[in-house]
Amino acid sequence: MHGRTGLARTHGGALLSTFLIHSGTLICMDTAGTVVPGDLLIQDGLIAAVGPAVRDALPQLPGGGADASYDAAGCFVLPGLVHAHLHLCQTLFRGLAEQSDLLRWLRESIWPLEAAHTEASIAASARLGLCELVAGGVTCINDMGTVRHTAVIADALEESGIRAVFGKALMDAGEGVPAELKQRREEALEEALALAKRYDGAAAGRLRVSLAPRFILSCTEALWRDVADASAENRLIVHTHLAESPAEARAVEAAVGGTAARYFAGRQVLSERFVGAHGVWVEDDELALLSRARAALVHCPGSNLKLGSGLANVRAWRRAGIRAGLGSDGAACNNRLDTFHEMSLAAGISRVLVPREPLSEKEVLELATRGGAESLGLGAVTGSLEAGKQGDVMVLDVSSPHLAPNEDGDPYATIVHAARVSDVRLTMVSGRILYRDGSWATLDAERTAAESRAEARRLRGRLETGAAR
Ligand SMILES: [Zn+2]
Repeated sequence: MHGRTGLARTHGGALLSTFLIHSGTLICMDTAGTVVPGDLLIQDGLIAAVGPAVRDALPQLPGGGADASYDAAGCFVLPGLVHAHLHLCQTLFRGLAEQSDLLRWLRESIWPLEAAHTEASIAASARLGLCELVAGGVTCINDMGTVRHTAVIADALEESGIRAVFGKALMDAGEGVPAELKQRREEALEEALALAKRYDGAAAGRLRVSLAPRFILSCTEALWRDVADASAENRLIVHTHLAESPAEARAVEAAVGGTAARYFAGRQVLSERFVGAHGVWVEDDELALLSRARAALVHCPGSNLKLGSGLANVRAWRRAGIRAGLGSDGAACNNRLDTFHEMSLAAGISRVLVPREPLSEKEVLELATRGGAESLGLGAVTGSLEAGKQGDVMVLDVSSPHLAPNEDGDPYATIVHAARVSDVRLTMVSGRILYRDGSWATLDAERTAAESRAEARRLRGRLETGAAR
């Protein structure tokens, strides 16, 4: 275990834990775009002070000084990254579903694999993904889950210390959906609401539960209407996929006689709680619908490239005023859970697609921080380094040769184009260290890697023999 958290007394005498990250360059991702050399003080899980000379002022601060600290000399200090579209249950499928396109990939590989999951294999899959994510500076995720055993994912989330919005995938229809994944609508919704009752706001507020209807082709109209009602009634995020690939868009058109966003608008699914992954093939008038509803979209460039789905025009999303985040999707269609890789792809794709007005590197980093947080309804909680927000922080070492020289360059370009996950030195959520200098504090990475190999072998065995779970 690493990262002793210091205890200090307030003026009132109550114990506060304090942690000081000092001597770094703060990349705050606040609306003012503050970039300044300085320090960051976290007290009782919250950012208490951020800026130049915070350390010098410490004797005057409540508690009389921080007694646990991290020297960030030669480092950028950033808000922890927000990973806004993920399938932790698919980490175990990495490398098992190659050379495919979306619908074939789902029907021939992913759904059968998800159907072959047991509690043990999902737990291993989730922990494996979480090890990769926290070592990559991710402090908040939005996970779609699978149809069964979602409580196991919740346990892994709680154990890891990460901040998460998560749900169980809802599927009550669809061509090629295995029997194990297809539920009656009432049963699917009942399980999702039971999950919300148990976990929404759990782990001191770190865990939030969403409703996660998978996509139009796996859900009946009645389910979408129920989801819209349940989301409004319980203030739950609706996390789904839309307009990902041309073949999917054609299948949606054939199934419901229209495009995804129009279909959702007609069933009251769009709201400020709607988070839709991909949105590659969303038309201009649909962007207006999404914007009017204050819905959010999540850009997944690596997945869109690997499955040959297309290039999303995030500039058009932004012009329409749509909140947006960034995600890698699952490890079976990427194959990395690496936000730095996604940022670099997002910047490059935008240059090709919209050469007159490409996304700036700062805008790309916004997608991965404040934008993602706002998309998940967590804008007041995380996504920037500002006093009063949770102590969700990442320290990035920019002193290595592959990042040098960067003293006078654009720090956003350094982060988006040159930095790698292996440059992450520290990941904290609510002031609690999850990863520090190559070691995981909450997860056992070595055991997880061994477990994941064994569980992947068993999973492939079940798939080959068609063994009942
Ligand atoms: Zn996805």
